[in-house]
Amino acid sequence: MLADLTWPEAGERAAAGAILAIAVGATEQHGPHLPLSTDTDIAGALCARLAAARPDVLVGPAIPYGASGEHAGFPGTLSIGQAALELLVVELCRSATDTFDRILLVNWHGGNVEPLCRAKDLLRAESRDVRVYLPRFDGDLHAGRSETALQLALAPGRVRGDRAAAGDQRPLAELLPVLRAAGVRAVSANGVLGDPAGATETEGAALLDHLGTDLIDRTRLWWPENSAERTGT
Ligand SMILES: [Zn+2]
Repeated sequence: MLADLTWPEAGERAAAGAILAIAVGATEQHGPHLPLSTDTDIAGALCARLAAARPDVLVGPAIPYGASGEHAGFPGTLSIGQAALELLVVELCRSATDTFDRILLVNWHGGNVEPLCRAKDLLRAESRDVRVYLPRFDGDLHAGRSETALQLALAPGRVRGDRAAAGDQRPLAELLPVLRAAGVRAVSANGVLGDPAGATETEGAALLDHLGTDLIDRTRLWWPENSAERTGT
């Protein structure tokens, strides 16, 4: 973890070619049963898995706030909005690339995708090697079975299982116009999009494995100079 290092140690890791990985999460409602930090927790867990698999990956402090305007109206949601997140990421990565040649942003919140990608495009236009990882998996949308299972696998004591309840379960294509116009509160009184019923720690561990493997695989492709294919080792 970068935060544990001194500056000479950080410099040594950078000189050895370290990739800085930063989790991009949110502080937002996740139904009546999951903690507000759920997105940051999951993104951080994926960074940790990548670092465990690749010694050249160094994990920086996570960004715990994101663009969560669609979750307004639920107590505890703390959103900095799209423009602030974009600027935060731009300035953070400009600073980080003073030390590290390669920056990987690991995102786990849909509302962050557009500002993150705009920031990445600007940074790459400045010749900075900044990448964004967006997870791909089949699951429900928000605080449903997938995220409940993941949180059970990460920290079961933080899941209020007795308060879990289904929310709006319509597919995203149908929900999106209403979500864009009026936010989650307009479609789901409890904040859940999906149904946490049936989520288990085992299912969450399997999903974490799947996501971790996808992140490791895609990172290998992004930096072929570090891969076995290129070096022949
Ligand atoms: Zn979430």
